Amino acid sequence: MDNFAKICLDNGGKITPLIIPKEYNNGLGLMNPSVLNKDGKIIVNLRAVNYTFYHSEKKLFQHPYGPLTYLHPENDIKLRTWNYYLELDDDNEITRVNKIDTSKFPDKELWDFIGLEDARLFEWEGKFYMSGVRRDTDTIGTGRMEICEIEVDKDSVKQISQWRIPNPPPDNSYCEKNWMPVIDRPYHYIKWSNPTEVVKIDLENKTCETVFIDDKSSGINFRGGSQVVPWKEYYIAITHEVDLTKSETGRKDAIYSHRILLWDKNFKLLKYSEEFSIMGGHVEFCTGLAQKGNDFLMTFGFQDNAAYILQFPEKVFAEILCIEDLSSQEISVNADWKTTNHPTMEFTTSIDVKNGCVVDCVFCPQRTLQESYKGERFLSLENFKKSVDKIPKEVRITFAGFTEPWLNPKCTEMVLYAHEKGHQISIFTTGIGMTIKDLDRIKHIPFAGYPNGNFTLHLPDSERKAKHPITNKYVKLIEYFGELRNDINNFQIMAMGPIHDSVSHVFPTAHSPEMWSRAGNLSREMILKPELLNRANEFKSIYHGEEPKTCGCLEKLYHNVVLPNGDVSLCCMDYGLKHIIGNIFEQSYEEVVPKNNSCFNLCKFCENGVKPNE
Ligand code: SF4
Ligand code: SF4
Repeated sequence: MDNFAKICLDNGGKITPLIIPKEYNNGLGLMNPSVLNKDGKIIVNLRAVNYTFYHSEKKLFQHPYGPLTYLHPENDIKLRTWNYYLELDDDNEITRVNKIDTSKFPDKELWDFIGLEDARLFEWEGKFYMSGVRRDTDTIGTGRMEICEIEVDKDSVKQISQWRIPNPPPDNSYCEKNWMPVIDRPYHYIKWSNPTEVVKIDLENKTCETVFIDDKSSGINFRGGSQVVPWKEYYIAITHEVDLTKSETGRKDAIYSHRILLWDKNFKLLKYSEEFSIMGGHVEFCTGLAQKGNDFLMTFGFQDNAAYILQFPEKVFAEILCIEDLSSQEISVNADWKTTNHPTMEFTTSIDVKNGCVVDCVFCPQRTLQESYKGERFLSLENFKKSVDKIPKEVRITFAGFTEPWLNPKCTEMVLYAHEKGHQISIFTTGIGMTIKDLDRIKHIPFAGYPNGNFTLHLPDSERKAKHPITNKYVKLIEYFGELRNDINNFQIMAMGPIHDSVSHVFPTAHSPEMWSRAGNLSREMILKPELLNRANEFKSIYHGEEPKTCGCLEKLYHNVVLPNGDVSLCCMDYGLKHIIGNIFEQSYEEVVPKNNSCFNLCKFCENGVKPNE
């Protein structure tokens, strides 16, 4: 999303620059405003600075010192901040301006950045506060959040208290900033958003403690941003990420992007949007969010030189976060699977931990699976139906998984049930366990096509890389497949080499796919299956490095695999069952599937792994 503001304007929103008369700050930078709806009155804190920041967007017209530079007054090279209290009318026009009087708390001026920066506004237990980072209290620029109480009189606005908040013990970090105050939860901040960390401060005893850390991480470097605002039964905020880069000449540069994050009231992260630019710039920063009726107000700085307030209907957030029913207080929490047109649920209909899949293909990590799986051998028809009933119709049901699907005698019933329930169906089978009667019962189904669809028949090969138990009955079935080849929708064949003599009279040749390590699982399998050692050079491997990776398949992270015990594995690479994302017998589909762009260790070893949002 490269222009969030345009989406807001297209939906009936409006944007207003926040400009104060030039005598207040000599026309220098105005930036990073914060907004608060205080009992119906819209209040803004506007940050004014004593310099002009210059950023050469698109790397055009760079300053000799690089694309990102600060232009100071000649007689003052410090980066100073002052804060201005504004009141706005219904059209978001400024009706009152007061410089916030901080004379009771003079700046220490021991470092280069002076003053309270990027202060967010909020009201806790009837007292009006602002909270931002201060770095001028020592000679090395140690940053800590400060909370300051503000008193608003008829003609003046004064700071009447100041407390430098320690980090929770051991309080030894260099710089803490952008903590997000939780508007309706006094003394709580979201200190960090990945994983979510909530701290609670004690103004009397001057302490700060961590009260919640999420055990799940999205793998994305979400930082702070606006305040955390209650919305329906949830909390919402706008966070930022920054990519610190270098110009061609090695000078400092940066690209800021934002996201919308949604938590439940226990601070469990439920959803996050794709990253976006607010107005298409590289240096933008959101420090304010408030609700005004059914609209949101968002305040942000553009290139540290301009400040804006953007008003837009809440449906913009709903659409971006894929929330279907805005009138409901209960938001359906994870429709991220709709970010792909090809969501798929694959079923493993049986796992025999003693013997593995009877076909025992050399490039299939069956021993790894046998060592990892615990639970019932067969998926019962009843449990299959219970699972399918929970899965949205748009999700394709695929019969493949970690073993041959027709090793379960109920497989044909399952295929028919999922088809009758309205799902698209695809099948990957060797035909082992299937009868001619089974084929007759399912041949009419319009099997799905691209991507990863089809009715694929895996034939035996002459080198016995796949060890189909070949019997007369099996050959007859393959001959029947031969007769139906043009009648079955999206029918195709494959083999791991030249076709085995027993069935080559039906299908003389077939496509042989390139072999990969199943996201590294074949390396583990090699220790368990000596046969594989002689074929180590016949499959490819990849390792992307330690950077977080997510799924680059067209299905994104929404091609998952149900096991006979109801566990859902991330994808068909996960033979070691290292990424069980939920249990479909016990949870809803939405609870089970991952959030878009989540990163998994397995993806670092998979040919389909990509950077989030790549
Ligand atoms: S590739 Fe398929 S048929 Fe071969 S062993 Fe694995 S699950 Fe069985
Ligand atoms: S391991 Fe990751 S990248 Fe590979 S298919 Fe699975 S989810 Fe996609």
